[in-house]
Amino acid sequence: MSEADPEYQVAVVGGGPAGLTAALYTTRLGHDTVLINRGGGRAAMMQDTHNVIGITEETSGAELLQTATEQVESYGADTVRGYVSDVHGGVGNFTLDVGDDSYTAERVVLATGFSDERPDPPLPRTGRGLHYCLHCDAYMFIDESVYVMGTGESAAHVAMIMLNFTDEVDLLLRGAEPEWSDTTDEQLRAHPVEIIDEEITGMNTGDDGWLESFEFEDGTVREYRGGFPMFGSDYHAELADVLGLKRVDDDGEEAVEVDDHGRTSVEGVFAVGDLTPGHNQIPVAMGEGAKAGIALHYDLREYPKSLAELDGDSVDPAATPAVSQKLRDAAAKRHDDAEAPAADDD
Ligand SMILES: Cc1cc2nc3c(=O)[nH]c(=O)nc-3n(C[C@H](O)[C@H](O)[C@H](O)COP(=O)(O)OP(=O)(O)OC[C@H]3O[C@@H](n4cnc5c(N)ncnc54)[C@H](O)[C@@H]3O)c2cc1C
Repeated sequence: MSEADPEYQVAVVGGGPAGLTAALYTTRLGHDTVLINRGGGRAAMMQDTHNVIGITEETSGAELLQTATEQVESYGADTVRGYVSDVHGGVGNFTLDVGDDSYTAERVVLATGFSDERPDPPLPRTGRGLHYCLHCDAYMFIDESVYVMGTGESAAHVAMIMLNFTDEVDLLLRGAEPEWSDTTDEQLRAHPVEIIDEEITGMNTGDDGWLESFEFEDGTVREYRGGFPMFGSDYHAELADVLGLKRVDDDGEEAVEVDDHGRTSVEGVFAVGDLTPGHNQIPVAMGEGAKAGIALHYDLREYPKSLAELDGDSVDPAATPAVSQKLRDAAAKRHDDAEAPAADDD
């Protein structure tokens, strides 16, 4: 490798389920990969994990991410804790700035996700009466009393959707005016959703930390098991914008446009997970990470060489395998560990 060659073949920005899966695939498919993550993110907010087959519901997001990070590292990927503030260059040689350091890579994967807009307090704890993921948490409200907060189209729709799970749904406007359309208003009023205008002034929780009720400024107290604030999303798209990636409407939000394998409008840049259009779910984020990882392998792998590339020559056996010494060492260690007798074996 000459001095001008990038240090890594792949740099993944964001260490949630999407980025970790992309890094797992690129590393196990033989490409030197660095994953740069500032920590936090939506998966880290999970008290429990739902909808991920093979993962017990009691697994927290922090546990899931810790195990996944160790898994990726064990195959030889480098992981860096830090915030990527800038990215420049182009396909074959990108530079990513992290504090005083910089990392170079041939390809970049953005897996930076978004943050849910948080309403004003008083609010229960996330996962204990405050829920941001409808497809994850609607199940836990079957036959329970539920609120939806917000004034926009999505709040009205989620309130009606929750009638699939329970017959007790309140839509809390918190003193603000509804912003949904007249058609939505007519539709909403034809559904048994109670609209509560008053602002929330207090909250009661149980010994287990779960929400029990909200108090309203007119003096009423209404009991809820939990509910969904619907105030939109704040995309972590600063790097996408620096790179000039095309954005696309995704249910009123500006997601990063990708093809079926996470390729963006800029060559050599991929995007996966919540940053892109589609369902915001861990299995979906993982699937997108996997597809991007495989697409990157097709793009970056050395062999087979086409006849045009060989131009009458043959592949030099000494130039195989194409995997770096670092990844070969990691593979050898894993082989050794798998073959080593367990500590309590005779
Ligand atoms: C409270 C809650 C509960 C949920 N429960 C479930 C559930 O049970 N099951 C389910 O399937 N889904 C659930 N979801 C949805 C799920 O968490 C997301 O769909 C999933 O985490 C998306 O993965 P991601 O990797 O795209 O993004 P994230 O998990 O958000 O990860 C993005 C990462 O990128 C990092 N990052 C951002 N910008 C930068 C930068 N410039 N430099 C470095 N790092 C950066 C962030 O810090 C973060 O670590 C839940 C979401 C929430 C909010």
